Order: sequence, then structure tokens, then C-alpha cells
Amino acid sequence: MDEGIKRIVIAGAGQAGATVAFGLRRGGFGGEIALVGDEVHLPYERPQLSKEMLRPESAGHRSIRTRAEFNEQRIELVLGRRVVAVDVERHQIQLDDGRGLAFDRLVLAGGVSPRQLPGGPHDAAAVRYLRTVEDASGLCADLETGGHVAIVGGGVIGLEVAAAARARGCEVTVIEAADRLMSRSVDDTVSRFLDRAHRGKGVDIRYRVLVTELRDGRYLELSDGSTVAADTVLVGIGVTPNIAGFDALGITDAAGVRVDAYGQTALQGIFATGDIASQKNENGFGRIETWANAQDHALNVARNLLGERVAYESPVWFWSDQGTTNLQVVGNATRGRRIVRGDERGEAFSVFWLGEGDRVTGCASVNMPKDMALARRWVKQGNRVDPHQLAEPGTPLRNCAL
Ligand code: NAD
Repeated sequence: MDEGIKRIVIAGAGQAGATVAFGLRRGGFGGEIALVGDEVHLPYERPQLSKEMLRPESAGHRSIRTRAEFNEQRIELVLGRRVVAVDVERHQIQLDDGRGLAFDRLVLAGGVSPRQLPGGPHDAAAVRYLRTVEDASGLCADLETGGHVAIVGGGVIGLEVAAAARARGCEVTVIEAADRLMSRSVDDTVSRFLDRAHRGKGVDIRYRVLVTELRDGRYLELSDGSTVAADTVLVGIGVTPNIAGFDALGITDAAGVRVDAYGQTALQGIFATGDIASQKNENGFGRIETWANAQDHALNVARNLLGERVAYESPVWFWSDQGTTNLQVVGNATRGRRIVRGDERGEAFSVFWLGEGDRVTGCASVNMPKDMALARRWVKQGNRVDPHQLAEPGTPLRNCAL
């Protein structure tokens, strides 16, 4: 590694930021590391917010590492502080308390924020979002109180919360702008399953409607003329990147901070990772908002900071637990030749997606984690399969590879 690199600053103390810091130490970096974040907590992973933390017996949140481990690894934590500017010439970031922190290398890992419900700003007590431990604790308390939970957005947050709320006896209405659930990442076969599964548990789902007004903090007026009276309003309509402070540096695009295959921005020595990073994909560039990307891409950035030159190559993978449903998606599960394995009207099946030469390019598995284990390997390696065998659930999956 370049001997001149004495100090690496990581702006963003979430999963990706913390993973870069520990990855640098594991890779032998002996210089200074500072990890700056605007939350007061030690870095934590976010999947627990919409899963374990919404259960009645929830015992609070888990941090990625203890304070003692950060100390042992000589990772300086600057928590409760926001980065407000980056001075590229002087190699310094500025914090919201006026302090400057010098860097030889900078990693932007400040993540994303929930997209706000249009028509706001709304009273924070009336409209909840789910991004932080405070958000999860507040929502958990609401679910404890019971009543009617109106959820705006039928994506991952909306559906995981819908399942948690029903399990706790709340009435639930999901208000979705599109004509199906989770349309960003699954095809209509899986959307139909999700619709059936959630309705089966008593969730009311409204499609093709927008909230036009929130009246008296609890009446949602919808674009079809109807009104939903809610005790709790939870909004999960996507996210926007936290780029304030460096949006004038010429390194951002519509999705976030654009990076090359090595995680570096257009500015030498400035990297980005996690949800904020706009990474190359088959359609151009975009965010990859998954736990696995925050882990794997961050480790890749650490290796490149240490002087290796390794391009990032890892198929998208995520899971979503919605009540008794385990959904997993790898690669692109909306494009190509679609092969359904199992009964798509049943409780467990997988939808495989094949590209040129019958190579597996994506898969969505519904309560079929074993299918997913193989699908992940196939997508990563670009394996070819026999489509006819694949469609035949009697044939063991491993025998379908060519
Ligand atoms: P999302 O993009 O998954 O879903 C947003 C949904 O809201 C979409 O279905 C969209 O059609 C709908 N929508 C958009 N505007 C709307 C409007 N005005 N009214 C009604 N519906 C509208 O985003 P999310 O669910 O908010 O999740 C936010 C982030 O959290 C993402 O980065 C996501 O990956 C992450 N997350 C991931 C998981 C997981 O992987 N299991 C779980 C929870 C959250």
C-alpha cells in the first residue's frame, strides 16, 4: 500500500462504513482510521429494524461490534456528528460542529434517507418512517398499542411491517401506488403470491392509489376518493441518497455517489460504498440497497484502499422475511426467460430467470431457501441449465445444471 496514506476517514458509521474500517485493519492497515456518523449509536445492521425489533419480546438492537472492539482496533469513533462539507483541495471534511478532519483517503458511506410522504412536511408524531433504531422502537410501541396501521408503500419495508403488525393483532391497510407489490425487484408471479399471502393474513391492500392529504394527523385521503382512518401511519416509499455537503463536487448522479468497479469516485482517493454508492449495473448505474452489498462492496473498497486492484463483481442478493414467508432474490429476477419451479399458486416455489445460452441470471425463491443456495452459485458462476428439467420439480435441482 502507498506509504503516504496515514489517515483514512470514513464518512458514515453504518454497516458499510464499519465494514470498511474493520476490513482495513484485517488487511494490515496500520495508520489512523476515523469513522464519523450522525447517529449516536455504535454502528448496527438495519435488517433487524423491520424484523426482530418489531416483535413484542424485542430486547432492543444489536451493534456490529462493541466499543471495546473499536478501541482495540484503534478505530476512532466520531458519533452524533454530521459531515457538512468536503474540501478536496485541503483533504479535509468539515463536521456540523465546525471541526475539520484531515484525510489522505476518504470513504463516503453516509447511506440514504427515507423518501418523505408528498404533501409534507408532516408532524413526526403522525407519520413514521423506518430507518433508525429510534424509528423501530417508536413503531414497536405503536404496534403494542394496537389499532389500525396504514402503510404507504408495498415494498420491502411496507410488507415486513404489515406482517409484523398483523402478527401483533393490528388492523393493517397497505396503500401502494403501483398495480402490484414489490415491483422494483420481483415479477408479477411473486407479487401475486405476496398479495395472496398478506390478504390471507387479513391485510387490506389498495393498489394504484396515492395519498392526497393527511388530515388531522390520522385520516389519509386517497386519490380514489376513499379515506383510511389510521392510528399509526408508516411510510416506506423508497429512499434518497444522503449527498448534501458534496453534491457540488461533480461525483454524484441521480442515484448517489458514482463509483467505478473499484469503488472509487471520479476524484482520486475518494471512494464510496453502501447504499449511497451508485454502482454499474446492466441498465447503467444505480444503488444496490441490500445488506449483502453493504458487506461485500465495503470489503472490496477496503482491499482497493490497501493497494490491491480488485473489481467488484457480486450478484445482487437479498432476503425478506414477511411473517411465515421467506423471500430471497438473486441477480435480476424480472428479466429473461422465466421458468417456474413448483406451484406458483402454492406456498413454496422458485422463479428462475435464464439469459442467453440458458445461463441462470436471476432467481426469486418463495419459501425455498435450498433452491436459493444453488441459484446464488449458478448466477455468480454463470452456469447453464436445462430449462425443461428445471421446470420439473421431481428432478433434483443440482441435476439441472449442464
Ligand atoms: P421500496 O423501493 O422497496 O418500496 C417502495 C414501494 O413504495 C414501492 O412498491 C413503490 O411502488 C411504492 N411507492 C412509491 N411511491 C409511493 C407513493 N407515493 N404512494 C404509495 N406507494 C408508493 O422501498 P422501501 O420499502 O421504502 O425500502 C426502503 C429501503 O429499505 C430500501 O433500500 C430497501 O432495500 C431497504 N429494506 C430492505 C429490506 C430487505 O432487503 N429485506 C427490508 C426493509 C428495508
